[in-house]
Amino acid sequence: MSAGRMGAATVRESLFAAREALFPIANEEAAFSARLLLCHALGVSDLLPLYASPMPEAAQTVLSAYVARRLSGEPLQYILGEWEFMGLPFYVERGVLIPRQDTETLAEHAVSLIAAHGYKTALDLCCGTGCIGISLHKLAGIAVTLADIDDTCLALARKNAARNAVSAQVLQSDLFGAISERFDLIACNPPYIPTGELSSLQKEVQAEPQIALDGGADGLKFYRRIAAAYKSRLNAGGALLLEVGISQADDVKKLFENAYTVKDLNGVERVVAVTG
Ligand code: GLN
Repeated sequence: MSAGRMGAATVRESLFAAREALFPIANEEAAFSARLLLCHALGVSDLLPLYASPMPEAAQTVLSAYVARRLSGEPLQYILGEWEFMGLPFYVERGVLIPRQDTETLAEHAVSLIAAHGYKTALDLCCGTGCIGISLHKLAGIAVTLADIDDTCLALARKNAARNAVSAQVLQSDLFGAISERFDLIACNPPYIPTGELSSLQKEVQAEPQIALDGGADGLKFYRRIAAAYKSRLNAGGALLLEVGISQADDVKKLFENAYTVKDLNGVERVVAVTG
């Protein structure tokens, strides 16, 4: 059924029609996506009590527009305008990388290191939405600095810090360029997709900013720059945590002394951890 033909009588029928319409693009996520979009269109968090209610016409118009956007390849997260990371809410918007479950591996390892070593200060480099640094402050109480080269990211990171009641230092910096302090923990999810692979990424990922994805010819450009500069920004006994792409861990590890890897839930080496 096309998005335009979802003339549903009840909320439940509208949900089922949206699910069917989304199936070609969302596959096994169609039901989940339809539910989230319908909740958003109705401004509610639970549909169950409304199933038998008539679907309001205005909400149906909004939902049909959301479904059309999703069918055109726009990521669900940009349509919703928010997404969860480490159980916390973050605003997302076009121009800023969407927080991913992959990155929770880094955040969880960081939380365990903070607890084990009593780290007091953290830098989230290439912070994007600010999801790593903000969740580390929220979950582990560490003081955080959020840094990014991009204005859109910095504005959104500020909004996300406020949304989560986190007071963070937010600053513009090209990697360590404008950073002179030292930190106990440095976390970074840099762009790491090889340039030549960008055009074959999923349509949804291509809707995300190239600046957050493009890691240069071999995908390792930013790790090399970080390797050349991190020592003067990391306190003795501290840790540098880097997210890496699938099968990049060995190459990244070679750029650093004292590095080990951490696997994600799929068994992929997802984080290179460097001890200072
Ligand atoms: N994990 C992202 C992806 O593969 C890439 C993010 C990044 O380059 N840091 O879609």
